[in-house]
Amino acid sequence: MLFDLHVHTRLSACSCLGLDQILLHARARGLDGVCLTDHDTMAAGRTLREGIQPDGLCVLLGMEYATPQGDFLLFGPFENMPTGLAADLLLPMVERAGGVAVAAHPFRTLRPAQERVIASGACRVVEGLNGRNSEQENRRVDLWLKRYPLSVCGGSDAHTLDELGRVATRFEQPIRDRRELIEALRTGACQGVNLGAVHAQ
Ligand SMILES: [Zn+2]
Ligand SMILES: [Zn+2]
Repeated sequence: MLFDLHVHTRLSACSCLGLDQILLHARARGLDGVCLTDHDTMAAGRTLREGIQPDGLCVLLGMEYATPQGDFLLFGPFENMPTGLAADLLLPMVERAGGVAVAAHPFRTLRPAQERVIASGACRVVEGLNGRNSEQENRRVDLWLKRYPLSVCGGSDAHTLDELGRVATRFEQPIRDRRELIEALRTGACQGVNLGAVHAQ
């Protein structure tokens, strides 16, 4: 199954991608699922029925949470999570709540994640492929893969329709709800894939 794990709707100030556009075009991009990961909010759930849509697309809610130590994609019951926590506080909370955190674009020059957070074992999943990173920024994640036991996923980080699905995560098992997504990310039954070439055809 191919999931774009990192997509921003207009609820993120930086994005001009409408939820309606995502729902309309995701299947045609070859995606089986999309995770909505707006900045510090899961409010997309107010206008969406989470789960399998009439066309078979699985839409799940998460968020991209900003900490001083880096951005993390969070999946779990975090609708009421206070914003602005430090990673040292946030990541154990995510774990206790049965969720999962993904270090987003960890080597992006402008918003990197601190290696000590990864070294501590508090976050065990990294976004090895991010659609808005440079190739070099993505490749640097390999350094961490050599040093730490990490699961790797990918997401487009789409802010426009053009970017939707350029990068995705391939899961070995079907993902039908948040719980299955969290389990697959935790166990590492996934890999990041670059679909950009497919779009170019
Ligand atoms: Zn980010
Ligand atoms: Zn993002």
